[in-house]
Amino acid sequence: MQPNHNLRLKVGFSNRKDGDLRSGALRNEFLRRTFGFEGEKLVTAQQVHGDGVAVVSARSRGKRVAKTDGLAYRASTATPIALGVRVADCAPILLVDEKSHVIAAVHAGWRGTLGGISMRAVDVMESLGAKRGQIRAVIGPHIKDCCYDVPPGRADAFVHAYPQVPSLIVKKGGKQYLSLIRALVHQLQLAGIKKDRIKDVSRCTASHNDEYFSYRADTQNSYGEQMGFIGYA
Ligand SMILES: [Zn+2]
Repeated sequence: MQPNHNLRLKVGFSNRKDGDLRSGALRNEFLRRTFGFEGEKLVTAQQVHGDGVAVVSARSRGKRVAKTDGLAYRASTATPIALGVRVADCAPILLVDEKSHVIAAVHAGWRGTLGGISMRAVDVMESLGAKRGQIRAVIGPHIKDCCYDVPPGRADAFVHAYPQVPSLIVKKGGKQYLSLIRALVHQLQLAGIKKDRIKDVSRCTASHNDEYFSYRADTQNSYGEQMGFIGYA
């Protein structure tokens, strides 16, 4: 991007009061308010609980990229754009290297986290010109270890993958609760992001179900999805 460009980096997370952003109209309303444009400049991912990160371009705007859970973009021109991921208990991760103008948005549930999607996003950002030491990451609202009980097999898989992470699994009342955030912060550090550049702005979506949509805490009738966005506007 040209040094004299007039676009600014924008980052935003919606919550329940913004409505279920699976609705195009509500998504447009949120984008208009926070980015000043609508869905025709938004790139989304199909989100298949995988660990793929796709490189997108200005031509991807207005589209949903198939078979991916992560999106990465390098701003080489002053093109307004937003990358967005939908979540309701899974973690939305937004990344940026402001100097290289490289951004990424990642949907990380337990499968994607175990598959290392956050580290893959950093690899892809580097391939686009980002420097690991310059990347900042912000992790938005997702389910926390107060509420996220998981089956023994899943708990074991995480402990086996990251035996060095303390309190990855919390045991309570015969159940095992997974701390996605501890796994994610560990992975982002493994990927070369400095700890003070990783920010967890999240609250537990299930504990604060009045503020956030939660796959676990909502009923079929009350369920919806919030989104995390990063882009230039
Ligand atoms: Zn909770």
